[in-house]
Amino acid sequence: MSHEARRIRLIMELRSQGITDTRVLSAIERVPREIFVPASFQDQAYENIALPIESGQTISQPLVVAAMTEALELGPNMKVLEIGTGSGYQASVLSHLCRRVYTIERHRALMEGAEKRFAELKLRNIVTRVGDGTKGWSEAAPFERIIVTAAGRAVPQALLDQLSVGGIMIIPVAVEGRDQELVKIKRTADGYTQDAFMPVRFVPLIPDRADEASRG
Ligand code: SAH
Repeated sequence: MSHEARRIRLIMELRSQGITDTRVLSAIERVPREIFVPASFQDQAYENIALPIESGQTISQPLVVAAMTEALELGPNMKVLEIGTGSGYQASVLSHLCRRVYTIERHRALMEGAEKRFAELKLRNIVTRVGDGTKGWSEAAPFERIIVTAAGRAVPQALLDQLSVGGIMIIPVAVEGRDQELVKIKRTADGYTQDAFMPVRFVPLIPDRADEASRG
């Protein structure tokens, strides 16, 4: 079966698993997942599973990418911050649905791979930074939407601070004694609301502790 045929089969599967937003489904249809997965996993590029990428990280399961993207409720003029660029797949899907994607990755090698893919796909509304995403991107804040694709025990304060009033953040949070859950956070005029909506398993969100220590 061709990549094209497998891609269409995957879209049908996402539909049958409850993804209803047609803009999200067509954004996923526009991104060739095969260029984001290693050569040895080409035949599985359109399976609905997470796959290993460089630096011991993973490209998320398509259903999780779709569910997170749908939960973001994106509008075409929005500015979105992503933490955990990885392969660049999620950022590429987002780039079709919003005005600009700011994406941060702590592994330089992964970011270099992702940047090559953004150029190859002519996605020109993605800006990148190598560093610790738990600190956010203060120069470009606030963000109407924030998506975190690695899991920590708590929601980083800098990300809460950099979310616009009326904004939405989707983040996996590790729950004691259980797997992780995807949490949808909304910032209102007088605070934040938080709802868990899906069990997930992400690689860890790793803050830059050395930097914290050197700041005393
Ligand atoms: N969104 C990616 C998958 C992410 S895997 C994709 O579509 O392929 C999670 C990524 O988060 C990994 O690449 C990991 O290196 C990165 N990461 C973990 N902690 C981080 C941090 N504090 N800042 C930035 N990136 C981080």
